[in-house]
Amino acid sequence: MTTVAEALRDAAQQIDRFDAEVLMAAALRVDRGALLLDPDRQFRPLEFDNWVARRAGGEPVAYITGRREFWSLDLLVTPAVLIPRPDSETLIEAALVACAQHPPATILDLGTGSGALLLAALAEWPAATGLGIDASAAALAVAADNARRLGFGDRIALELGNWGQGLRQRFDLVLCNPPYVETGAALARDVRDHEPASALFAGVDGLDDYRVLVPQLPGLLAAGGIAIVEIGWTQAKAVMALAAAAGMAATVRRDLAGRDRCLVLRPED
Ligand code: GLN
Repeated sequence: MTTVAEALRDAAQQIDRFDAEVLMAAALRVDRGALLLDPDRQFRPLEFDNWVARRAGGEPVAYITGRREFWSLDLLVTPAVLIPRPDSETLIEAALVACAQHPPATILDLGTGSGALLLAALAEWPAATGLGIDASAAALAVAADNARRLGFGDRIALELGNWGQGLRQRFDLVLCNPPYVETGAALARDVRDHEPASALFAGVDGLDDYRVLVPQLPGLLAAGGIAIVEIGWTQAKAVMALAAAAGMAATVRRDLAGRDRCLVLRPED
């Protein structure tokens, strides 16, 4: 037996202190606030020590705990899905602004992964239903688990697919966080070694998937519909050019760090 305070002090020699606190809270199934209020709590550190070793080896915290919060939703994550980033919450903020006058009834999420964007949107618009598409069956299984656990099971459909190919329905809101990292870019080791390459990399200039999916967007939008697409922070100009070629007007929205993070796209009439 050891105390929380002692175990955290030891762990912080090997890994980031905040990561150690998150892992400890998950091991004890309490939230981090409760953990820090009770530093003299006794526990057997077997699982925790194993988790600290995995983190020290570069495995992301979210894959160790199997959880990540996005837009205040507690999501399950596995190595089959990209870990949802706070940056991507910019797309939900943009959607709330863009759809303020006309709440979307139907929402499409292309490359849904864990379901993060789609479930956050369904949480914001309780009357809406959603379709999530992914090229990975393993990712869709994670999204289905999340939908069920969070109580969205009857408002969501999930299908294997290649972006919008073959979809006949049209949607009021389309969300998409495609892969956009240049093949060969220097990513943090934790990301490169553990997160799914198919969710990250998109050719030498990172634009391969936009070239496929952006031209599909006008045909996926209902009258008055809006598409919101995540971009890498240097990609606004290039993706806006693809949007213009597909007949769409674009505005850029920045993330909390002040970097270009998504495009809000509307077909030009
Ligand atoms: N933002 C992610 C990263 O930099 C990339 C996500 C993506 O390609 N969609 O790790």
